[in-house]
Amino acid sequence: MMGIGAYSPESQIRIRMWSFEEREINASFIAERLAAAIGARAIFLGEDVTNAYRLVNAEADGLPGLIVDRYADWLVCQFTTTGAERWKHEIVEILRTLVPCQGIYERSDLDVREHEGLAYTTGVLSGLPPPNRIEITEHGCRYWVDVREGQKTGFYLDQRDNRALIKRYANGRDVLNAFSYTGGFGIAALAAGASSVTHVDLSERALTLARENTALNTCAGSGTAEGKKQGSDVPSVSDFIHGNVFEVLRQFRDEGRSFDLVVLDPPKFADSRGGLVKAARGYKDINLLGIKLLRPGGILATFSCSGLMTPDLFHKVVSDAAVDAKRDLHIIRRLQQSEDHPEGLCFTEGFYLKGLLCRL
Ligand code: SAH
Repeated sequence: MMGIGAYSPESQIRIRMWSFEEREINASFIAERLAAAIGARAIFLGEDVTNAYRLVNAEADGLPGLIVDRYADWLVCQFTTTGAERWKHEIVEILRTLVPCQGIYERSDLDVREHEGLAYTTGVLSGLPPPNRIEITEHGCRYWVDVREGQKTGFYLDQRDNRALIKRYANGRDVLNAFSYTGGFGIAALAAGASSVTHVDLSERALTLARENTALNTCAGSGTAEGKKQGSDVPSVSDFIHGNVFEVLRQFRDEGRSFDLVVLDPPKFADSRGGLVKAARGYKDINLLGIKLLRPGGILATFSCSGLMTPDLFHKVVSDAAVDAKRDLHIIRRLQQSEDHPEGLCFTEGFYLKGLLCRL
C-alpha cells in the first residue's frame, strides 16, 4: 500500500494524497492534522504581530483542499476539493473545539470548485454570522476586512511580511500602490511616514475600503483621507484611482510623474500553462511601466502570485523590463509568501507568491 488519498472523479487531479502511511481517514485523523496546523501558528498568539493569519494551508498542513483563515474572532473556511468537502462537518466541529471564536463562515466560491464538480457555497457554518466588516490589526496597522464579499477570504494575508518590509523604505517617500486592493501596502507605507500614497485598483469596492482603512489609521477614523507624516507636521496625502493599472501607469509616464517606491502586486495572470506566455507579457508590461516611474534611488517591490510563473521566469521578465526601460536595478531582497502559508517540501506547487525588492 502506497498511502491513502481522496478521489475526485471529475477533476484532472484524480487523487490527492492525504497520507503516505496506512491510516484510516476519520474524525481523529482530522483532529490530529488540525491541531498540528493550529499549533504551528502559535507564534502569532501573544505576539503583537497580528490577529489575522492562515490557520490551515491545505496540502502543506496535510489537509488537501482545506483553507482556514482567522480574522480576529472569526474563522473563514474554503473547501476546494471533494475530499475536503466530504469531511466538512467534522472539520467544522473540530475547529469549534480547537479555536474559540464567534463564528465560522464558508467562502467556497472559487473557480477550482468547478473543476472538482462542486457548486459555489457560502454561508455560516457555525456560530454567529460575521459582521459586514471585521477589524483586524497587522504590524500596528488596522484594516477592515469584508469576509463575505472580499477577495480570497477577505484579505491578502500572504503579503503580511512584505507589507511590513516596505515600511523601511517609505518614510518621507511618494508611494505608488498599484493593484492596491483595500490599501494593504499603501496603509503600511503611510504608517511608516510616507509623504503620499497613490492607490490604483479596478475594484471600486476595494477602493472604498482602502479609503476607510486610510481613515482608520490616521485621524482616529475621522473619515478624512489625510494622515500625518511620521515625525512631521506635513500631512500625508492619499489618492485613490479607480482604473486599469496598465492604462493608469501609461498615463503617469506620459505626464512625467514619478515615485520613490512602486509596489506592483497584480492578480494571478496565468491560470494555465497555455496562458503563461500572455501572462509573462503582462508582467513585463507593468514592470516596464513601473520601473520607468521610479526616481533615482527608488525602490520597486514587484510580485507574481501565479504558481506557474517560476521564480526564474519572473526574474527574467523583470530583468528584461529593466533592460528595455534602460534602467540599472539591483535586487536587494527576494520575497515570498508569509510563514503561515507554508509550502510542502515535495509539493512545490505550493510556492506561488514570489517577489523582488529592487533598488534603482
Ligand atoms: N496588494 C494587495 C492585494 C492585491 S490583489 C494587498 O496587499 O492587499 C490584486 C488586486 O488587483 C485586486 O484588488 C484586483 O481588483 C486588482 N486588479 C486586477 N486587475 C487589475 C487591473 N488591470 N488594474 C487595476 N487593478 C486590477
